Amino acid sequence: MALDNTLQGWIEGPPPERDDGGLAIVELAFGVQVDGQDHHGHPIIVSRWSAKLKTTGGAHRLNYVDVLRYIDIAHDPAAMRSSPPSHCKICKRLLNDPGDPVGSKDCGGDCCRCMASCGDVDCYMALHAVEPDKYPLDEQGEVP
Ligand SMILES: [Zn+2]
Repeated sequence: MALDNTLQGWIEGPPPERDDGGLAIVELAFGVQVDGQDHHGHPIIVSRWSAKLKTTGGAHRLNYVDVLRYIDIAHDPAAMRSSPPSHCKICKRLLNDPGDPVGSKDCGGDCCRCMASCGDVDCYMALHAVEPDKYPLDEQGEVP
């Protein structure tokens, strides 16, 4: 099945790398899978997070290099920062709390600690860097 894509404003190539949680619609290269599934060329909505793009429906991380073209749909970092304090959707912790900058980092609506306990390797490693006792690595230096 092929759909005629009526979205306007596609920009060729991957979006500029940012870490502001901004949303974009992306079209992935042929053969790139999302959580083991073929996306059949359908656009996917992602948030920018660290060096990855994270899908909004689950927490699947995508690589910038796999993006063929994109449309920014929300990308005003100043506006996002001035919005009222938000809380983790899972544990209700205040996000971006200066008292716990790594653990409370906003990772797309959930805090870094919850993402780490859900098996997110990048979050776990970020926490390991500041709290190696609470977030140890195994003998191979990998996330247990
Ligand atoms: Zn949380």
